[in-house]
Amino acid sequence: SPDPTLRPDPHPGDADRALRPRELDAFIGQAEVRANLRIFVESARQRGEAMDHTLFHGPPGLGKTTLAQIMARELGVNFRMTSGPVLAKAGDLAAILTNLETRDVLFIDEIHRLNPAVEEVLYPAMEDFELDLVIGEGPAARTVRIELQPFTLVGATTRLGLLTTPLRDRFGIPTRLQFYTEDELNEIVTRNARKLGVPAEDGGAREIARRSRGTPRIAGRLLRRVVDFALVEGDGRVTRDLADHALTRLGVDKLGLDGADRRYLVFIAENYAGGPVGIDTIAAALSEPRDAIEEVIEPFLLQQGLVNRTPRGRMLAQKAWTHLGLPPPRPPQD
Ligand code: ADP
Repeated sequence: SPDPTLRPDPHPGDADRALRPRELDAFIGQAEVRANLRIFVESARQRGEAMDHTLFHGPPGLGKTTLAQIMARELGVNFRMTSGPVLAKAGDLAAILTNLETRDVLFIDEIHRLNPAVEEVLYPAMEDFELDLVIGEGPAARTVRIELQPFTLVGATTRLGLLTTPLRDRFGIPTRLQFYTEDELNEIVTRNARKLGVPAEDGGAREIARRSRGTPRIAGRLLRRVVDFALVEGDGRVTRDLADHALTRLGVDKLGLDGADRRYLVFIAENYAGGPVGIDTIAAALSEPRDAIEEVIEPFLLQQGLVNRTPRGRMLAQKAWTHLGLPPPRPPQD
């Protein structure tokens, strides 16, 4: 299974929290998203209303939670956080909703994993700030309508396609987060190194940025590991050579792929001559849940053009053969 130090952690620890940007201005990258959010936040403030419900979608570790927290701070309201799988019963969500103060931000992570009964409660809450509660059972059951304070729901999902249409349609501001560029990650790593009190030379920060799979959370984690090597095996400075050495020791290759990514590629290369091969076959062979492969491993491989998704399954692209140093089954004829 993937090395846990290299994978987005659903429960980030203190170190992660310390590196989180706290204002929109300190948030690097996602320029278009930021510019739009700035306008929607400002408009909501001027109107004195709750900001429209916002849906962030994209791979893990790109800043969905961070942006939701920043929105609450910039709106000057409380930030409440929960997640789809945690809300087991309609009453769990009702309890949270009735405790919100006016214009609060409620963040629901993994919103595609809401139980349908809970999701039903969310519809009138999002649309009319109302809650229909069923009290009692059988013939004595009755419905009570409760008025809620206006609030902003911020949903986050790694799987937009798994959201039901009625839920999706209730978000006024659907927002897709993209992988970060090397330059953006370079800036994030340089800043974070400063926050950690460790000088990162230009080449050192850039080496980490280049190998972070386009993902700030991975950049943060790799930086901390490289700093460990710098302190114990180096002279405390994050140089390019030191970063290269440390990342190679951690199994992170030149493209930023780790052991799990390479196993995925090698499996398709060696067992299916480059594919096509179905996702379930890959999941079974790698002993990984299909969801983890689709949410964590594949988005970056697709974005990098290493793999293609076809109707008949996954196929390796030429770039993957080159990267693995393996000959493709049928060399291209010219
Ligand atoms: P998600 O909710 O999409 O999984 P998070 O918001 O939890 O991602 O971000 C993961 C980590 O990456 C956080 O610790 C945060 O500090 C860092 N991070 C995310 N986006 C940025 C950014 N644009 N600039 C700096 N750090 C970022």
